[in-house]
Amino acid sequence: DSPLSDRIQAMNESATIAMAKKSREFLAKGFDVINLSFGEPDFQTPQYIKDAAKKALDDGYTFYTPVPGIPELRQAICDKFKRDNDLDFLPNQIVVSTGAKQSLANAVLSLVNPGDEVIVFSPYWVSYEEMVKLAEGTAVPLSGTLENDYKVTAAQLEAAITERTKLIMYSSPCNPTGSVFSRAELGAIAEVLARHPQVYALADEIYEYINFVGEHVSLAQFPAVTDRVITVNGFSKGYAMTGWRLGYLAARLDIAAACEKMQSQVTSGTCSITQRAGLAALQGGRASADEMVAAYRRRRDLVLDIVRDIPGFKTPTPSGAFYIFPEVSAYFGRTAPDGSTIDNSMDLAMYLLNDALVAAVSGDAFGAPECIRFSTAAADDKLVEAFRRVKESLAKL
Ligand code: PLP
Repeated sequence: DSPLSDRIQAMNESATIAMAKKSREFLAKGFDVINLSFGEPDFQTPQYIKDAAKKALDDGYTFYTPVPGIPELRQAICDKFKRDNDLDFLPNQIVVSTGAKQSLANAVLSLVNPGDEVIVFSPYWVSYEEMVKLAEGTAVPLSGTLENDYKVTAAQLEAAITERTKLIMYSSPCNPTGSVFSRAELGAIAEVLARHPQVYALADEIYEYINFVGEHVSLAQFPAVTDRVITVNGFSKGYAMTGWRLGYLAARLDIAAACEKMQSQVTSGTCSITQRAGLAALQGGRASADEMVAAYRRRRDLVLDIVRDIPGFKTPTPSGAFYIFPEVSAYFGRTAPDGSTIDNSMDLAMYLLNDALVAAVSGDAFGAPECIRFSTAAADDKLVEAFRRVKESLAKL
């Protein structure tokens, strides 16, 4: 008999982390694996941010901080919302956490009761569904279509809402699809929500700065729903600060206070040094992000050029983030040189790891079992080599 709780036994391990683990095993055996499974910028954190962290350490800034973050950082986050998103928040509406991931978990655990339905726009980021399960809610995936770049429409949302619906969750720019909601699309979604006052929205804007179309729109900008939107953002992607663990949410005061209470019993305030670094990051504006975005855009174009020549891959053009998410079902049912059949995207991901030595993540984990996700956050020459190998391996099927 296992001593483990039903809760943890029902939870899936993160598929992206599992694939990264496998690819490290291959590397350790001496294989030249190109790992495109991870959602991680390959850039170093900008120097001015590192300098602020060194200074915090030298200044002896090593004590517990207030649970929802240091006051200067909460103020700087309010200033950022005003500058970038034309949103007005007070510092007590901001909760700083150990990454956007914790902000999302805080919000889900603070809002969802057992049996509540959470509409998760699909394809979705791997952790959304597991967080809802942890809160004993029911995740209801709602899939966008390939023709609409996988974006859920207002009409689809209207049809999916029931009296049990408590929350919707989405990311824009989206991981894994790279899609970005336009003002018109989010406005229509806000109109639907306006008609259903019991429904809240968790807007994950972690890829805000990695946007190739220009306009980033926040759902909270639509006055009819501002009070019911929890906006999540962070530093991992835009400032290349994945390892620092710093994210935040902004919400109505009662919801922010609930998230603070949740965090106070689980982790307390995030790292004091990291918060000082985050403050410097925001004070530096978005110049460093803009440089990185130019590289992400160049890589997206580079990869799309190769991938468009791969038969059977249907790949929408990502408007943001750093992934491509081709539909690959044309390969299902085919036979590999060793006689095994490719039945699904998991088999295809394993075949590509074994044959092309390229690690990607099967779409199952994102609610899209006919797709596969490749990260484009790698050096240009690695990307060219990886997709050359992928193309060659697929030609053997
Ligand atoms: N949300 C999305 C859509 C992500 O892709 C990620 C990271 O991969 C996160 C949240 C978590 O970000 P953080 O590193 O700030 O916890």
